Amino acid sequence: MTETLTNWAGNITYTAEELHRPHTPDALAKLVAGSAKVRVLGSGHSFNLIAEPGDGGVLLSLAAMPPTVDVDTAARTVRVAGGVRYAELAREVHGSGLALHNMASLPHISVAGSVATGTHGSGVTNGSLAAAVREVELLTADGSTVTIGRGDARFDGAVTSLGALGVVTALTLDLEPDFEVSQHVFNELPLDGLDFEALAAAAYSVSLFTDWGRPGFRQVWVKQRTDRPSSPAGLDFPWAGPATEAAHPVPGMPARNCTQQFGVPGPWHERLPHFRAEFTPSSGAELQSEYLLPRSDALAALHALDAIRGTISPVLQVCEVRTVAADRQWLSPAYGRDTVALHFTWVPDTAAVLPVVGRVEAALDAFGARPHWGKVFTVPSAVLRERYPRLGEFSALAGSLDPAGKFTNAFVRDFLQPLS
Ligand SMILES: Cc1cc2nc3c(=O)[nH]c(=O)nc-3n(C[C@H](O)[C@H](O)[C@H](O)COP(=O)(O)OP(=O)(O)OC[C@H]3O[C@@H](n4cnc5c(N)ncnc54)[C@H](O)[C@@H]3O)c2cc1C
Repeated sequence: MTETLTNWAGNITYTAEELHRPHTPDALAKLVAGSAKVRVLGSGHSFNLIAEPGDGGVLLSLAAMPPTVDVDTAARTVRVAGGVRYAELAREVHGSGLALHNMASLPHISVAGSVATGTHGSGVTNGSLAAAVREVELLTADGSTVTIGRGDARFDGAVTSLGALGVVTALTLDLEPDFEVSQHVFNELPLDGLDFEALAAAAYSVSLFTDWGRPGFRQVWVKQRTDRPSSPAGLDFPWAGPATEAAHPVPGMPARNCTQQFGVPGPWHERLPHFRAEFTPSSGAELQSEYLLPRSDALAALHALDAIRGTISPVLQVCEVRTVAADRQWLSPAYGRDTVALHFTWVPDTAAVLPVVGRVEAALDAFGARPHWGKVFTVPSAVLRERYPRLGEFSALAGSLDPAGKFTNAFVRDFLQPLS
């Protein structure tokens, strides 16, 4: 039977005739060895052609492979198989009395697919989810397994790698002792006079939400670790008033889909994501874009968006502002700079949204904004290349592990080509 293969949002239909779901390492190795072009589909939550194999290539999923989650409590690490999602991983890790440093807004996404695109949560001291990775196991083009750990000269290219180096069969992640988080939502934060640095640093993870229908932010989500002292501002949170009703960041969506608020302490994996694992995250009918730029430019960038809010708001469901600590992954959108991430949940109408995406990119161009690899963007490859100073090293790494370009697709080729 021919199945139609789409991403989670339904805006991308993959051209592959079939989604191959090998059950064993042997079957996976045979499939890879016998195919000229291969891409892995994680949980399909990206909004662009990053996972599209093209050229009659094979699309494969690791979802039917053994869902290994091996926690080493003494070493405080976990080895997780390439098809596992954060929801399953987090349950096991929490059950072992340990924790991940951060999570994205939803736990539904695969670990390998998330770190491949630089997926992140929020927090000025929190690196992207890739920052927890200490070792990557890759099934490479010639069928051999290559393990690249921290300390290996290739490591900084091996985690946020756009799926271009091989099949990630397992990842080993750093863990820390279990912790609890209390989450508060505040309403009506003005943009004028905003002390962004102080606000972003006021708790472990802070997110601002606006629909750009009017100046300022409708909601601020504040996630505070109960094992860390509050900042001097504490949770008095002088900048906005406490919400009186449970909130969902997307206007009109039910708050029961979201994690517990009103400061009730709970385990890290049930507070750091905004959306609960058992419900549809976000709005479910949407496109998304996101741009990551230096945190020191946050206020200027927010004012640049405010200046075009009349263009943005008609096609916007919600905009979220988060922070990400600088990292060293060559293709990470947070590479080398403490970052502010400006996210847009659009209406599900590509024709209406794309021109506005172009206007947002023009407004953020002066800040050297790097688009999220898994979301909708139109920044030309030539511009993108200038924004990744270590691209040459990544290109060389991809060429050495995959000389014939088995794992390269049009999305990746377009970005790498002039150097390869
Ligand atoms: C509702 C929603 C909320 C989101 N919230 C956030 C958020 O809070 N923060 C954020 O940064 N992003 C967010 N995203 C974006 C999302 O995290 C990224 O698109 C991420 O890549 C999704 O992971 P995935 O497994 O679905 O990846 P896919 O889209 O399936 O794949 C992404 C890339 O990873 C590669 N890949 C996947 N698995 C493997 C593997 N085992 N081996 C080799 N390559 C592999 C694919 O080939 C592809 O290149 C959100 C998306 C949605 C739909």
